[in-house]
Amino acid sequence: MSIPSQLAQVREAIAQSEKLAGREEGSVKLIAVSKTFDEEQIRPALKAGQRVFGENRVQESKGKWPSLREDFPDAELHLIGPLQSNKAKEAVALFDVIHTVDRKKIARAIRVEMEKQGRQIDLFVQINTGSELQKAGIVPEEADDFIGFCQVELGLSIRGLMCIPPIEDNPKAHFKLLRKIAKRNGIKELSMGMSADYPEAIKQGATFVRVGSAIFGQRTKKLSA
Ligand SMILES: *Cc1c(COP(=O)(O)O)cnc(C)c1O
Repeated sequence: MSIPSQLAQVREAIAQSEKLAGREEGSVKLIAVSKTFDEEQIRPALKAGQRVFGENRVQESKGKWPSLREDFPDAELHLIGPLQSNKAKEAVALFDVIHTVDRKKIARAIRVEMEKQGRQIDLFVQINTGSELQKAGIVPEEADDFIGFCQVELGLSIRGLMCIPPIEDNPKAHFKLLRKIAKRNGIKELSMGMSADYPEAIKQGATFVRVGSAIFGQRTKKLSA
């Protein structure tokens, strides 16, 4: 199936899930995750009207997005992969939203760059809901303190929370936990749900779903996340 028809299917499934969950139409935003796919594969999605995209690497995005944005200046780019502080400058310049704020050092670096560049971007804190050793994100017990640090000490506004449930788990409990942490911190947006589980994420309150392979097909290139 073509990328535009897969995109249309995902949009339809999102609308269905919104309805089933009794949620307002259009309350869930689709981030089309285009990591590893090249310009010629991304362009058909742009032509089909998709404007919000997710990438997980600064370097890769720097290569392909400037020219795509010349043709589609209203495209919105979300960083959904881990960020090193030495890439903060490029990330703040290139992305509109960063979903992976998860340590003081990176939060500070982003703040400094936003000030230097006179640029305001939206920030999400990544929560490691499964407390997995190898996974990025703040563990749930430290989430409130870290969010407070970003808001109070750094004066950053945190728009949302993001999680990637452990692959071997049923994601439901992780989505619920993310929503709970967001609620008690007065945070509105929830970035959760991928190709395999976005309908469940919508049921649990996702406002952004990050869908890659269901739109673009299986990724063949090796990923170093
Ligand atoms: C790759 C990726 C996705 C998309 O995954 P699919 O299973 O292809 O939909 C979503 N979120 C993050 C953080 C990713 O790295």
